[in-house]
Amino acid sequence: MRVYLRKAIALLLSVLLLASSGCALREREEGEDFSIVASFYPMYIILLNITDGIDNVHVHVMAQQHTGCLHDYQLQSSDMQELTKADVFVVNGAGMENFLSRVTEQLPDLPVITATEGMKLLHEDGTAHDHDEDEDHEEEDVNPHVWVSVEGAMQEVETITQGLMKTDPAHAEAYRQNADRYLQQLQALSDEMHAALDPYAGTSIVTFHEAFPYFAEEFGLNIAAVVNREPESEPSARELADTIDLIRHSHVKAVFAEPQYSTDTAQTVAQESGVPVYLLDPCTSGAMDKEAYLTAMRQNMQVLQQALQG
Ligand SMILES: [Zn+2]
Repeated sequence: MRVYLRKAIALLLSVLLLASSGCALREREEGEDFSIVASFYPMYIILLNITDGIDNVHVHVMAQQHTGCLHDYQLQSSDMQELTKADVFVVNGAGMENFLSRVTEQLPDLPVITATEGMKLLHEDGTAHDHDEDEDHEEEDVNPHVWVSVEGAMQEVETITQGLMKTDPAHAEAYRQNADRYLQQLQALSDEMHAALDPYAGTSIVTFHEAFPYFAEEFGLNIAAVVNREPESEPSARELADTIDLIRHSHVKAVFAEPQYSTDTAQTVAQESGVPVYLLDPCTSGAMDKEAYLTAMRQNMQVLQQALQG
């Protein structure tokens, strides 16, 4: 009898383990919590929209204290703790989360939704900038800043929605409805921005870090130079001189710094080359509400209109 009981318990345990490890398609009980962790801010804002008003679905953002992109981000033990409790991890992908392999090694059963999956990506060296000193070149050669274009953000919304509908079928309908509403708002934003910015197609600009190629492509702008390709470090004097030289000898309208980083370098470049400096927001941090991306992009639209006219 005891042996039988032990066997039964062992069987039950293995069934439970199987059920929890293969949880990707597990139907949730009514009222059971579903916890989504976003790797960083742009994914978080998208998720706030897709999960808006859905009971028992919670969104957390990793790297919350970190402003800016995740380039060179070191995974904290608190991040792993958060992920251990998560039902799904939503990442941008395309090399933005360089710690991702560590997460999937330690939590092989955690479903991961990659927002850029299947997307046509731009190469990192899309701008005319030669890569002479190749220090540790661990970065992927694709540019991950897809969400900075409205079109890219819309594709990410769609991919994340599909992923959530599969991972959490109990809320599939609600995710779909929310996503459709958000996609409509993004489409309206895109229309508005095209109406405002299409007249400036072909204009050359200089940006602070490599965050804007998708945005530039969307609105036909030409990124003549990037002040600081690696935003966590300072550009060399030689790189700065080259950028200033390039601006002086081309028809660059403005230098754009980013609110997430010090504007000192961009300011120096702008002063030396005689063009104004403005702030352009790559939406890598900001207000923690679901309107934040729409608001920041409208702000970008106004800044660009002001900077590029005349
Ligand atoms: Zn970045």
